[in-house]
Amino acid sequence: MRIGVDLGGSHIAVGLVENDGTIIERVEKNWSFEDRQDIENNIEKSIIEISTNILNKHNYSFENIEMIGIGSPGTIMDGKILNASNLGIKIFDIKKAIEEKTGCKVLVKNDAKCAAICEKKFGNLKDFSDAVFLTLGTGIGGAVFLDNKLLQPKRFSGFEIGHMIIKKDGIQCACGKKGCFERYASMKSFKDMFVKEFNLDKNKNWHSKDIFEIIDREKGNPVIKNIIDEYVDNLITGLVNLIDIFEPQAICMGGGFVYYKELLLPIIKEILYKKDRNFNKGYIPEIVIAKTGNDAGVIGAAMQD
Ligand SMILES: [Zn+2]
Repeated sequence: MRIGVDLGGSHIAVGLVENDGTIIERVEKNWSFEDRQDIENNIEKSIIEISTNILNKHNYSFENIEMIGIGSPGTIMDGKILNASNLGIKIFDIKKAIEEKTGCKVLVKNDAKCAAICEKKFGNLKDFSDAVFLTLGTGIGGAVFLDNKLLQPKRFSGFEIGHMIIKKDGIQCACGKKGCFERYASMKSFKDMFVKEFNLDKNKNWHSKDIFEIIDREKGNPVIKNIIDEYVDNLITGLVNLIDIFEPQAICMGGGFVYYKELLLPIIKEILYKKDRNFNKGYIPEIVIAKTGNDAGVIGAAMQD
């Protein structure tokens, strides 16, 4: 039995998970403004409190737990969370903190990699030994599997797929480089194009629902088609790079992209399957959508090794 923790900018989810990936119980908590003022302590406190409550309820203790797996945004190095800007963390040794309090072994991985592990074990990547997983949200996170193994770098977080440059001297990225893939193909960049073209309030948090309303309202407006065409073209530039480098059997897209699958996936497939943009013209992998959804973070965190 394991505990999986899905740590995010707006909330934390903790689950008691069987070794086969079944969730026994999962509890979620949103960060309040006060929580965020002392986020490291509150993360530690929440993990301990929620886990203890769930374990007590099922007549278990930390002694019954094989390991606690944590999925977190930011760069993960030796169990430390580094530079998780949406949590306001510069450096936090979460592995040490939780191991000391629970006596359990603690493993920490980037949240996109945890979602990928779940999708690979239980979702739409189950039948593919060589695959690329992308989380398209505020940024783009990724993971690569070859021969069913998650490729793991030795020094830094690695596989910074979102920060491969697809346009030289392009838009400035928060990472310091210009023209990164995530500045053109994340769901945030997709929404930003609507904000720009339709003069929407830049400070408002626009949801997918709002974007779909605009698309409905502006049916036939060539601006909509231009936004979609440009977005898809940029996304495909990145996908083609990944196809040429890793030759995956499948690429799976998750995160906020899932909401747009009916709008965007057919266009992406149509262009990709024309087979004229990648190096090996005859070879195009399957393009699939993540299916493991909301629980993927907790399950994937618990299943990491
Ligand atoms: Zn970047």
